[in-house]
Amino acid sequence: MVSEYDRGACPEHLVTRRQLRDRDVSPGGHGPVAILRCKRCRNRPQWSCTHPGRAWLFDLHLAKPKRIPTLAQEWALDRAMAARQTCPDCGRRFFTCLSKKLGCCLECFDGTPVDPSNYIAAAAPVAHRLAA
Ligand SMILES: [Zn+2]
Repeated sequence: MVSEYDRGACPEHLVTRRQLRDRDVSPGGHGPVAILRCKRCRNRPQWSCTHPGRAWLFDLHLAKPKRIPTLAQEWALDRAMAARQTCPDCGRRFFTCLSKKLGCCLECFDGTPVDPSNYIAAAAPVAHRLAA
């Protein structure tokens, strides 16, 4: 049985998903533990209110800090992706990973023209070619 609380009368450690987000935490794998009732909004149409009649409540004691990738991690990830997506022969960076077997894009391998919407002409990793 999930307990229900009226807005203003709910324990402080129980918060809505939006409040979790505002605190930069995630539910930490646990589901909602209670329901928040808002009498003021219950009779209004849902679209007119950002908190419709009921909202799930999560326990802050169980919440975990959200894992936010640092900029360095994102760069490392991007470099790894770029390496797998950039053709060493023509320097174009594709939106999909290149075939490991070919080691280059299809066009460099056997001349099959690639769709221009599938790549970015010159990505950062080959910037030195532009400068040359
Ligand atoms: Zn190529």
